[in-house]
Amino acid sequence: MKILRLILGDQLNIQHSWFSEINYNHIYVMMEVRQETDYVHHHIQKVLGIFAAMRSFSETLTKMGHQVIYIKISDPKNEQEIPANLKFLANKFQCSKIEYMEPDEYRLDQQLKSLSNDMGIPSMVYSTEHFMTPRDGFNKVFGARKNFLMETFYRRMRKDFNILMDKDKPIGGVWNLDLENRKKLPPDLIIPEPLEFNIDVCDIYHEIISAGVDTIGKVDFRKFQWPINREQSLHLVDYFCENALKYFGTYQDALTEKSWSIFHARSSFSLNVKLISPLETVEKVINYWQDNRETISLNQVEGFVRQIIGWREYMRCLYWNQMPEFGHKNFFGHTRKLPSWFWTGQTKMKCLHHTISQSLEFAYAHHIQRLMITGNFMLLTGIHPDEADLWYLGIYIDAFEWVEITNTRGMSQYADGGLTATKPYISSASYIDKMGSYCKSCIYNKAAKTGNLSCPFNSLYWNFIDLNREKLISNPRMTMMYKVWDNIDKDKQVDTLKQAQHYLENLELL
Ligand code: FAD
Ligand code: SF4
Repeated sequence: MKILRLILGDQLNIQHSWFSEINYNHIYVMMEVRQETDYVHHHIQKVLGIFAAMRSFSETLTKMGHQVIYIKISDPKNEQEIPANLKFLANKFQCSKIEYMEPDEYRLDQQLKSLSNDMGIPSMVYSTEHFMTPRDGFNKVFGARKNFLMETFYRRMRKDFNILMDKDKPIGGVWNLDLENRKKLPPDLIIPEPLEFNIDVCDIYHEIISAGVDTIGKVDFRKFQWPINREQSLHLVDYFCENALKYFGTYQDALTEKSWSIFHARSSFSLNVKLISPLETVEKVINYWQDNRETISLNQVEGFVRQIIGWREYMRCLYWNQMPEFGHKNFFGHTRKLPSWFWTGQTKMKCLHHTISQSLEFAYAHHIQRLMITGNFMLLTGIHPDEADLWYLGIYIDAFEWVEITNTRGMSQYADGGLTATKPYISSASYIDKMGSYCKSCIYNKAAKTGNLSCPFNSLYWNFIDLNREKLISNPRMTMMYKVWDNIDKDKQVDTLKQAQHYLENLELL
């Protein structure tokens, strides 16, 4: 009897055991559906990247001899919903069973779990064989504890997978070299050009547009820059090792207008659609470092490894530990809407203008731009976490809910009340100025808290501190800030809060 095997758009793992042998009873199905293009306003590069990678993956499977049914967005018989398409195909091919891999999103997980009942045939679920930890990985590390410290998780991962270890000790004697990774870019340092693949995705672009899919952002569809297959993804990691690893850690937090990717790997899309695995990626980077230890210091490679086996795996476990409640968290009770310029970049604030414009152009911003520019501003202005989620989930090529919502609602917006971050990630202009060059050419005055052109981050920062005293004062990492605020002259406090109020009432005009 035939078995229908579903492959989702972010399950492009050619090394999965499903594909190790050809079985004519297995019919693989892949589909481009409105259900997935329309649940949020995606960046055009995200939709294009996923469809192009899916089409390339289906061709590879077909060449290997597998039976693949590929439903395009433009296919007239496409029902535009996963269950409806599966039902049609299961009937057509008289399938006795449906098999699928664990979806990474709660929404899809729920939908696929009810498949069997809806269709009246059995279903079976498999691992994606991508992640290093299972969905319930927190149980093993934290047991019954309700406090999930990333550093504890990360150390356990290093030990369990024997990564950067010298027997039972971390190589170099310390687990985390983050303190060495907070430098501003020196003006004369040469930044590598990002590797772009320049793929012609014109046909897919026109199909997406003709289907009426509403997207955001820009694209040059004759020169699509992102990798769409495994070979290109591996090439991107090699390029990172050869050109950027040397400075990755040191300038990981730096902000600049000179480059949109600086020394970052741009590997998140390839990883998140599973063209490459986290373990092979860190192994590749560590092997390169081993061969080049005289020129590449340990903090560069440790910083990279921590992002992947630490933060990335941690976020996935956090997601499955906390969903669906996590999607409703709003610790500060924020209610504001995003100003409309978040969708255009048309703001006078240089840091936000650059980060948003870059995101619209490349579907990419690096971690500190997401956390300390856009995220910082959203938190200081009390934007509703739902608004924040919709923006982040739409605009980035790598945005999939399991890794987006945990970073946005958790790490960036502190909407989980401190489950992910030990304190809110907020700052005034001083941090933004310390890490980059934005403030130099900004119309606002980075040093002023009040007055017509005072930097909005300054008054909004102190307003946030003042407003949330009750919720934050007991956090030892916030004590210092409250001491500083309480020592400010009362009249100055009043002026600062008035200034913040003015900006909050005029967000559209900033
Ligand atoms: P690099 O800086 O080169 O890092 C290497 C790899 O480490 C990345 O490819 C990524 O897979 C992993 N990584 C780094 N930081 C994190 C992190 N905090 N969480 C999980 N993985 C991490 N990442 C996503 O993949 N999808 C998202 O939707 C997403 N949304 C974010 C939203 C906010 C508000 C913030 C603060 C961060 C978000 N991140 C997200 C994490 C991080 O910003 C991106 O993974 C990173 O910028 C991707 O670029 P890169 O591949 O050049 O990363
Ligand atoms: Fe951003 Fe303020 Fe600096 Fe302008 S002065 S770039 S608004 S932090």
